Amino acid sequence: MFILLLGAPGSGKGTQGKILAERLGLPKITTGDILRAAVKSGTALGLEAKKFMDGGKLVPDTVILSLIKEELAKPEAAQGAIFDGFPRTAAQAALVDATLGERGQRLNHIVLLDVPEEELIRRMTGRAAQEGRSDDTPDAIKTRLQVYQRDTAPLVAHYAERGIVHRVPGIGAVDDIATEIKRVIGR
Ligand code: ADP
Repeated sequence: MFILLLGAPGSGKGTQGKILAERLGLPKITTGDILRAAVKSGTALGLEAKKFMDGGKLVPDTVILSLIKEELAKPEAAQGAIFDGFPRTAAQAALVDATLGERGQRLNHIVLLDVPEEELIRRMTGRAAQEGRSDDTPDAIKTRLQVYQRDTAPLVAHYAERGIVHRVPGIGAVDDIATEIKRVIGR
């Protein structure tokens, strides 16, 4: 089973993805974590990605598409995975759809975490103080929210046509949100 967690930055995809991956015994593929690790270890990918990430812009598809291909080809993702942070553009969605399609698979569920913008800003600003992420600055947060609306939110309509989008309110207790996700995907 392939599940995509979709939602604005700060909507809780990482937290809920971890719970879901553990419960279903599936690997979680998180492009943001992969990119941050690359930045930290100073690889060519990391050096390129950092230029975009710090400002809250998307890393270009020319870079991300090959990363996604590599991740999907890993044996642990052969039977299913939780996708956190991708696909995030139409081109990424097309690649995911095509790659899974060639394998006779498809995205089974899209969980859309719905959180009001004031709350997203509050969470990211709070996280900046705790985790020191270089893109949790006020300007980068603003850009990330705009980029989400412009490039990623349209994917909801793309997947909604297939009837696989479940909109889940992302405010309240972490456990309650996890229970609601379990209910909507039926396992
Ligand atoms: P958030 O969604 O909270 O902003 P992520 O960890 O998902 O956090 O992403 C952080 C940054 O990493 C993004 O702003 C972007 O620069 C980069 N990034 C992560 N995933 C992708 C992706 N699929 N395509 C392009 N850029 C990405």
